[in-house]
Amino acid sequence: MKYVYEFAEGSRDMADLLGGKGAGLAEMTRLGLPVPPGFTVTTEACKVYLATGEEPPELGVEAAGALAGLERAMGRTLGAPDDPLLVSVRSGARFSMPGMMETILDIGLNDQSVIGLAKSSGQERFARDSYRRLIQMFGRTVMGVDGDLFEQAIAAHKTKRHVRDDHDLDTAELSVITEEFKDIIRREAGEDFPQDPADQLSRAIRAVFDSWNGERARVYRHREHIPEDLGTAVNVQAMVFGNLGADSGTGVAFTRDPATGESGMYGDYLPDAQGEDVVAGVRDALPLSELKALDPRAYVELGDHLRRLEDHYRDLCDVEFTVEHGKLWILQTRVGKRTAEAAFRIAHDLRDDGTITADEALARVDGTELTRLMFPRFDTQATDLPLAHGVPASPGAAVGAVVFDSAEAVRRAAAGEQVVLVRRETTPDDLPGMIAAQAVLTSRGGKTSHAAVVARGMGKVCVCGAEALAVDPVARRFTTEAGVVVHAGDTVSVDGTAGTVHLGALPLTESDVGRALETGTSTGAVTEAVLGALAHADSVRRLEVRANADTPEDAVRARALGAEGIGLCRTEHMFLGERRALVEAMILARDATAREAALAALLPLQRADFTGILEAMDGLPVTIRLIDPPLHEFLPDRTELAVRLASATHPDLHDRELLDAVERMHEQNPMLGLRGVRLGLAVPGLMAMQVRAIAEAVADRLRDGGRPHAEVMIPLVGTVEELRLARTETERVLAEVEAETGTSLDLPIGTMIELPRAALTAGRIAEAADFFSFGTNDLTQTTWGMSRDDAEASFFPLYLEKGVFGVSPFETIDREGVGRLVEMAVVAGRAVNSRLETGVCGEHGGDPDSIHFFHLAGLDYVSCSPFRVPAARLEAGRAAL
Ligand code: ADP
Ligand code: MG
Ligand code: MG
Repeated sequence: MKYVYEFAEGSRDMADLLGGKGAGLAEMTRLGLPVPPGFTVTTEACKVYLATGEEPPELGVEAAGALAGLERAMGRTLGAPDDPLLVSVRSGARFSMPGMMETILDIGLNDQSVIGLAKSSGQERFARDSYRRLIQMFGRTVMGVDGDLFEQAIAAHKTKRHVRDDHDLDTAELSVITEEFKDIIRREAGEDFPQDPADQLSRAIRAVFDSWNGERARVYRHREHIPEDLGTAVNVQAMVFGNLGADSGTGVAFTRDPATGESGMYGDYLPDAQGEDVVAGVRDALPLSELKALDPRAYVELGDHLRRLEDHYRDLCDVEFTVEHGKLWILQTRVGKRTAEAAFRIAHDLRDDGTITADEALARVDGTELTRLMFPRFDTQATDLPLAHGVPASPGAAVGAVVFDSAEAVRRAAAGEQVVLVRRETTPDDLPGMIAAQAVLTSRGGKTSHAAVVARGMGKVCVCGAEALAVDPVARRFTTEAGVVVHAGDTVSVDGTAGTVHLGALPLTESDVGRALETGTSTGAVTEAVLGALAHADSVRRLEVRANADTPEDAVRARALGAEGIGLCRTEHMFLGERRALVEAMILARDATAREAALAALLPLQRADFTGILEAMDGLPVTIRLIDPPLHEFLPDRTELAVRLASATHPDLHDRELLDAVERMHEQNPMLGLRGVRLGLAVPGLMAMQVRAIAEAVADRLRDGGRPHAEVMIPLVGTVEELRLARTETERVLAEVEAETGTSLDLPIGTMIELPRAALTAGRIAEAADFFSFGTNDLTQTTWGMSRDDAEASFFPLYLEKGVFGVSPFETIDREGVGRLVEMAVVAGRAVNSRLETGVCGEHGGDPDSIHFFHLAGLDYVSCSPFRVPAARLEAGRAAL
């Protein structure tokens, strides 16, 4: 095994072995770009070192050989007393990783060679300053000395000299500081700063290896799902100097603007400086265009290299470069990071000019970026400190007056005001207020709390779990950690992308992309790029994309955003608001007559709901789920009722009855209780009423010349027997309505698969089902045996931290467990019924990673909230590439 590669020996395909930086340096060397020569110690050497605690025995010889080659090429010897060769030691893993050891520059300087460097460069201050930097970096990163001690020592000198900048310390001062640094090292590390250049080099290499297991590096890997065993490569490279005067400098450059995607080179330049100064922000850098005036030759040459790199990598590249006495050196390149706008625009432009194919362009953007572009955002970076930070649960930006309860949100919004609903946490009762509000802010709960899930579903801005806020809904105010009190009616700005809340109204920009997607008209380069990517995704995807929508307005919106039907139309929302009274009447009915009267009153209301939705989705499938949640969700809260009764002088008879009903219907585990198909079978007339409302709505639409495609979906089925009973009842009602209206109603009847038993017996269930719709929210809850609402707030943070799972199974489908059930059920179901239609309607239907899984599992469609439809279309296309 070879552990050391000269730059000229490697290539871009060797990133696993040479790390990202090493592969980039090698590739540029091969292309003939001006890269200071050097060599890379491989990730394999690092792995051996990490596993055994010792470097592979061959490494010493190979590295010495490579160094000798470098010395020959440069005509200088590492750390030689006169005109020394200096090198940098640069860490560089496969994936760039903050938290790893930084680069050490100027290795090879010691008490002798610093004098040599001063002579050969003719600049004593430069030499002294380089030595000072080496001791400081080496002391901190290799010898483990607290970096603050060095900073404090320098600060003391600056104070003494009354100067602000390191730059203003003179040669003599720097020599004194250097001696102080050596003292610090001796005191703190118990040994001297190593004077032997070879020793410096080998210790620096080992320190890079060790930094792989540093605390911050591990945390980063864990969060980014980077495997633990990759190891890092180490690059050793001849130093070039940007800090040799006005004809030198350093900078970063991009082949295109990484913020907007606009073509043309872009970047920063800092004259008379070394690379780390740019990052440290020691002085303000100049825009790259200034280099044109300062050094036209270097500028033009840089432009040539950038074009060369972009052509070669066929993507946006960035470089780090240094100019030494007018000579340009490229020190690093990689395919550059970019904003969501830039990602779409660059992919589109490169596709347009034939550099990449439409498929490649699609692969380079993703649904998360698309969603980000659809939200309005705050115009300026807020300069003032936020009131609080929370979880960025649902992105976007919103401004509004603070309200503390749902009713007030509805009232104020109806009066034309923009409001932000602030709660400790939200419950289903807050739904109307959440709909009315511009944003939702909670002080408890994480990414899968009720507020977060519902807000994301609605595409509403949400910051949750802002724990520093003390919310007092009774006094109608909240207090921040800093003691700022915000009252109802005060204006706040909520940034759901950053997860922050600000006092006052920050300036807001509407999203062009959001508008363009709904109207189909492009208004600029970015929207055009987005529409182009979507058009290609639509042409290659196999998965259909439907929306979850319960109202005609949502249906219209979903359709505008490209939904090809409704995969989940929940009917329980149709029992809320003013209709609650009718539901109560149905529940409290003492006899069949009273119950039928209540149901009869609900019928026309439901029918009108369905007619509106079927009209909005004319010609497309609409899957209507019969009522699912336990009935007591439609009744008042038990405690509230009891208190009201106890404190009333004349107890209200209706309240008394209600309380009885609530108590009768109370369940220990309502999620596993009387709900779904069980409810439909247990409450006489309920299912018939709903099916009749659907059937009559279809008949109405047919009569009006529409093309309604309603499908009846039975929730929470565990066994085919349940589905058979429900199917018989549904078919009976359909036949009745057919006879009454003289129409032929050929409605598919299917079921949710959301219990493990349903998935396990899918072959049986398929005997009675025209379609399966995987309710992956409940399926995840029941497969893992945990309630989303509770688990999220209690042990999820711990589980995520301990790595039990990398991401919540409610956010991204758990392929191994829940996903396995889905795969099994699809196969078993289709074996029995080859025409069985399959889809998914849980939250996962809008999650990029999950969509790729559903594509692989062979489902026919995914269904997600209207707002996520464009992202789902894009990801379904990407999954098919
Ligand atoms: P990072 O991964 O943090 O970007 P680098 O290894 O790229 O770290 O090093 C940081 C900076 O150090 C570079 O941008 C460059 O300016 C400077 N640097 C690294 N190696 C050399 C070198 N051989 N000559 C001059 N400057 C160098
Ligand atoms: Mg770098
Ligand atoms: Mg369900």
